[in-house]
Amino acid sequence: MGTPPPTSTKPTPNADPMEGVMHLADRIANAFLVREPDGLYLVDTLFRESAGRIQAALAQVGPEKPLRAILLTHQHMDHVGGAARLHWLTGAPVSAHPFDTPAIERTGPGVGPALLTWLLRRPAVTVSNVVREGATVGPFEVIHVPGHTPGSVAYYHKAKGLLFTGDALMRGNHGTLSLPRRSYSYDPEAAAASLAKFARLNVRGIFPGHGAPILEDASTQLQAAIERQGKIEVPVDHTLFGPEGRPEMHPGMPGWKEG
Ligand SMILES: [Zn+2]
Ligand SMILES: [Zn+2]
Repeated sequence: MGTPPPTSTKPTPNADPMEGVMHLADRIANAFLVREPDGLYLVDTLFRESAGRIQAALAQVGPEKPLRAILLTHQHMDHVGGAARLHWLTGAPVSAHPFDTPAIERTGPGVGPALLTWLLRRPAVTVSNVVREGATVGPFEVIHVPGHTPGSVAYYHKAKGLLFTGDALMRGNHGTLSLPRRSYSYDPEAAAASLAKFARLNVRGIFPGHGAPILEDASTQLQAAIERQGKIEVPVDHTLFGPEGRPEMHPGMPGWKEG
């Protein structure tokens, strides 16, 4: 037959994007544990009190798969909270961008007012692997997407076509990909502009910091989100508000200003 053999290095189209990915969620936030031949990679760490849940997930996978790296997308406490304890438990190196490292290590200010920073206090953790645009950690490429915070990064698993966006892109109430609320971001215009960096990617799965992963038509949905960046939809009733309608503590609550 005349069908040419596949020649591209594109990710296998039929494999399940969730294959080898464990979705860990706590209240509003997501973390992901990715299984690789050499061990496990953890993208974000949820809240301070979520570390036990992640530890249980590591135990479930088993000791033959050590934790190779803790990959932090940005400095906010719903992503960094469990990092100190997980690092202490596993010894896995912690990766983050230099612009967010002082806040993560608590050697410098975070984005947020002093009172909120105090309310959201969490143990400091040392960033032993400072990663910039284009760096690689295991199978992941680092993409610097500043805006939500100065040092926000996404982690792209090129071989599998998986994109872990942190809060650079999250899932809105209607299921579409959107930017975080403007008031939650250090520089909303930069956050919108950063999305263009995703345009070159060939994705099969998108794993946002908030909301369910996108496992079907991921590339189409990503391109659509990039195209509407200028008129991005803002979630009206964001899931940052808990079951009783009270806001969860999070940088970006009303009155939040860049610090
Ligand atoms: Zn955030
Ligand atoms: Zn977040």
